[in-house]
Amino acid sequence: MAMYQIRDIDHFYGDTQVLSVEDIAIPSGSITGLAGPNGSGKSTFLKLLGFMEEPTYGEILFNGKKALPFSDKVRFKVTLLTQAPFLLHRSVFDNVSYGLKIRGDTRDIKNRVHESLEQVGLSPDSFARRRWSALSGGEAQRVALAARLVLKPEVLLLDEPTASVDAHSARLIREASLRAREEWGTTIVVATHDWQWLYETCDSVLHMLYGRIFNAGLGCAVYGPWRIGQRNLLQKELEDGQLLEAPKPEEEKQVAVLDPSRLKITLPGKDPLLKWNTNMLNGIVSRLFLEKNDEMVQVAIKVAELVITIRMLSEKVEVLKLYPGREVCISYNPQEIEWY
Ligand code: ADP
Ligand code: MG
Repeated sequence: MAMYQIRDIDHFYGDTQVLSVEDIAIPSGSITGLAGPNGSGKSTFLKLLGFMEEPTYGEILFNGKKALPFSDKVRFKVTLLTQAPFLLHRSVFDNVSYGLKIRGDTRDIKNRVHESLEQVGLSPDSFARRRWSALSGGEAQRVALAARLVLKPEVLLLDEPTASVDAHSARLIREASLRAREEWGTTIVVATHDWQWLYETCDSVLHMLYGRIFNAGLGCAVYGPWRIGQRNLLQKELEDGQLLEAPKPEEEKQVAVLDPSRLKITLPGKDPLLKWNTNMLNGIVSRLFLEKNDEMVQVAIKVAELVITIRMLSEKVEVLKLYPGREVCISYNPQEIEWY
């Protein structure tokens, strides 16, 4: 069952179109990542999924039904953690209990608030009575998350939850969100640049650019800057100095996407003779993930700052003896890279 069904939405601010999403479904209990540069429409998409605004055209079904912004169908069930969350100028306890109080749901409130604080790694003894102004940025973000988790939401929408917090808070925010999915089956949609979320945590990633989703699933998006290389190819220098080559796009485009089904994994030193049109990248297997209902394995390979996820038959994974930490080579044909 889909938690959301998006039906051909177009969203405008004034005369400017900022979002255009065709039909997609977001399954219940899934974790969906939204990736893309600033201004690509991630926050706008989250606002629509949070029923804070109505799409100018098209509709979003929630649990199979149309829902209006702020209606009872969605209030308290869908909750959005914005990038710079607003806290009431009161104590941590008052902030976390606020939603329960306005819902009139005050049974056992103290324990529930304390549990939520613990879930985000804040000890109730030292934090419950603390004022909002005596929190670090990461702590404030975690209080805001606790205020949402205490409602046991069906949907948790996270807008760059780890962009402006310390690494410790980032880890706790991710763990607390994952526990919500484990314990209550919460559906999560997260806009983020954090590759741990995108490639180790999400079930699927929607890549956005100019308000459109241009590639759902495992495609690996590569952003510029690009420079002019040989053979009429563009080159991107990765963080570790390796070069990725792509053909020059015909018009001005921003993102090159590697289609993982076109890539080949080999072990270092055991490369078959390379064809003239094939390039190599060196990477390290970072994760193996057995797909639910079949014999395919998703092999995540870290190549400098990129994570490339390739689906393979489990037999092939055994033959190549792949395991996390193993060095591998990926071969690709630059002409098969597509631009968006
Ligand atoms: P992202 O979260 O990916 O950075 P946003 O959804 O915030 O992208 O923005 C998408 C586009 O919509 C941007 O061009 C932004 O300037 C515009 N935009 C966002 N909110 C508003 C608004 N309230 N009024 C007018 N334009 C907006
Ligand atoms: Mg944003």
